[in-house]
Amino acid sequence: MSSTGFPPPAEYYDVEDGINVCMACGNPRFTLLHRVEHFGFPFEFFRCECGLIKQAPMPNEQFFEWFFNSDLFFSAKESDSEEIWGFYDYFKDENSRLKTSRRRFRILQQKLNWETPRSIMKIGPSTGTFLYVASQAGHQALGCDVSDQFVNYAKEHYQVQIDHGRFEHHGYADGQFTDLLLFNVIENVPNLDEFIAAIRRTLRVGGHFIFNHVEMRKNMIAAFQKDKYFIFRPPICYAFEDPALKMILEKHGFEIQLRFRDIRYLHAEKITTLLRWRWALRLSRMLKIERINFPIWAYPSWITVARRVS
Ligand SMILES: [Zn+2]
Repeated sequence: MSSTGFPPPAEYYDVEDGINVCMACGNPRFTLLHRVEHFGFPFEFFRCECGLIKQAPMPNEQFFEWFFNSDLFFSAKESDSEEIWGFYDYFKDENSRLKTSRRRFRILQQKLNWETPRSIMKIGPSTGTFLYVASQAGHQALGCDVSDQFVNYAKEHYQVQIDHGRFEHHGYADGQFTDLLLFNVIENVPNLDEFIAAIRRTLRVGGHFIFNHVEMRKNMIAAFQKDKYFIFRPPICYAFEDPALKMILEKHGFEIQLRFRDIRYLHAEKITTLLRWRWALRLSRMLKIERINFPIWAYPSWITVARRVS
């Protein structure tokens, strides 16, 4: 295993937010689920009886500031590491992301009857593909991201606006948005209560909070891969079994309206890297098929549409 040269310092963690706190059920009953080593230092994941899984101690905002702006995240290849902290050669996956965004948008537009222009906020929009697709369809679409590389990329390639910084610190107006989306984000938020409270405040009553998550209940791949499962790595703060997720949504005044499978376009290079199948990666490169996109229900990831009821 290669090394980054340094472990994250102690001040990148919130020692107050450990296994003494369960933000889903309020009655912490945690047991150790996995202890994993990455880059020579350990991370521990615990599971509460209610079905909430969390990293403890919890990484704080400083950790993410560092992580999402580091080369580790943008290119495991460039940082000379095959360990997958972020995504394998991120910007080369643009074609997959655009196809996935088109598909997600088409389904949401249809299921939620987006006929008149909506006011959409997407948190963590990465390169801005969904914002681009939504604005092309006549909606008002704004993003918010902690990475300035994404902000600049989206402006340059898609002419869409992404505000730089943490969403919950931005001071958007009450009820400003009709729909608020996040994909591949909810597992990476350390201060989830504060974050969802800000989402609720900025959504109008009746508006939609739309996100995906990796379902951990009866997750056969997780059961098989154990601590090698891709969820158990540093940027993940939380993972969810459905009952815990429902409790969190209800606590914040949301009601689940819809749920459907999150089909994504992926290529062999991405999949084999996530699964750590080096032989399959080599084989796909030999056959020159490593960059061909195909739709797949991976992980298993679900898209939830929750309505703000109060
Ligand atoms: Zn709990």
